[in-house]
Amino acid sequence: MDHFLYRDGALFAEDVPVSEIVAAVGSPVYIYSTATLERHFKLFDEALAGMDHLVCYAMKAASNQAILKTLAALGAGMDVVSGGEYARAKAAGVPGDRIVFSGVGKTDEEIRAALTGGIRQFNVESEPEMRAIDRVAQTLGVVAPITVRVNPDVDAKTHEKIATGKSENKFGIPIAKAREVYAEAASMKGLKVIGIDVHIGSQLTDLEPFRLAYRKVAELTETLRADGHEISRLDLGGGLGIPYERGNSAPPLPVEYGSMIKEELGHLGCEIEIEPGRLIAGNAGILASRIIYLKEGEGREFMIIDAAMNDLIRPAMYSAHHDIVPVQEAEPGAEQQPYDIVGPVCESGDTFAKGRMMPKLSEGDLVAFRSAGAYGAVMSSEYNTRPLIPEVLVKDDQFAVIRPRPSFDEIINRDTIPEWL
Ligand SMILES: *Cc1c(COP(=O)(O)O)cnc(C)c1O
Repeated sequence: MDHFLYRDGALFAEDVPVSEIVAAVGSPVYIYSTATLERHFKLFDEALAGMDHLVCYAMKAASNQAILKTLAALGAGMDVVSGGEYARAKAAGVPGDRIVFSGVGKTDEEIRAALTGGIRQFNVESEPEMRAIDRVAQTLGVVAPITVRVNPDVDAKTHEKIATGKSENKFGIPIAKAREVYAEAASMKGLKVIGIDVHIGSQLTDLEPFRLAYRKVAELTETLRADGHEISRLDLGGGLGIPYERGNSAPPLPVEYGSMIKEELGHLGCEIEIEPGRLIAGNAGILASRIIYLKEGEGREFMIIDAAMNDLIRPAMYSAHHDIVPVQEAEPGAEQQPYDIVGPVCESGDTFAKGRMMPKLSEGDLVAFRSAGAYGAVMSSEYNTRPLIPEVLVKDDQFAVIRPRPSFDEIINRDTIPEWL
């Protein structure tokens, strides 16, 4: 459930008409709902009730400072995958002991920043990285808490670009090598092993791959404990999917996910961490856009809108589906017709949907992409010198611009001219 609903035919974000936001800040625009963000975080938090746990929001899904502050105020931890995200989490007031650092390519500089600023744990993805963390920690005279991310070789049954738990993926160390790697970790003075980490992919719509992976983690926990390691924390990653197509898909609910975790891992007495991103932010955001032209093609009608692939790349990159709805609802029984919905960028990949059935719309009308809160604004670019579009956060009947649209001058003036020109 989200908080983007029609009232008397007009799409609202909580208690604010979407058309009012567009009138104030222009289009296209990302609009987030505070109530939806909070609701989704609480669903995960409650799903793990009864277990010692921390929900670490995977902030790569949507990392605006206002979104981070909203979640941090509820007690959320953060999962970061770069020095920039670490700095963002700190800037939003998240204490270091609630920040976990994931990612396959942590540099010395990033490791140093996290060790200096405070870190809950590093999720180590390789032996060379483990040695780097040990070296940097010893140089600073501190001990770095770590888990090792294991690759359980489980098929997440999701889009190939967001599957991360098969042996051919670059993530983690093969689970069969885990004992060896933990033995090396235990010998390093700059490291303290505290647990195990796993993350098998994103947009999973079935619990079974999670269950298979977590079973392997449970087994490994027992093995490593028998080897003398203290395994007190299990980081189970993120990845629970969301229903991008209303009425057509029903991924498992956080409460079902939580029950499965208790079933598979509850007996181990470990502190549980999860790292959901998409399920917290995805349906908490929409992208509102205006129709520029309706153009007759051969046997098709193009709806050319003012949002493009640079603003929301998921359809071009993952062939992802987004429900696209009119901001002013059609009369019941209104005539429908197929549209090819495209942006103005000079690439055929700039296509959001083909033959999408929608009520007949007019130039100047507004449409909204649902489920655009995660991997939307964060993946946008200024391709075609299209300014990064503004982000707006709604709370009840208030809204605020949380990232303004830059002017052309601001974009152009970021470039610098060498002296010979
Ligand atoms: C991307 C990622 C997540 C979040 O995945 P979602 O599908 O957005 O829940 C969590 N952990 C790690 C390590 C990731 O790379």
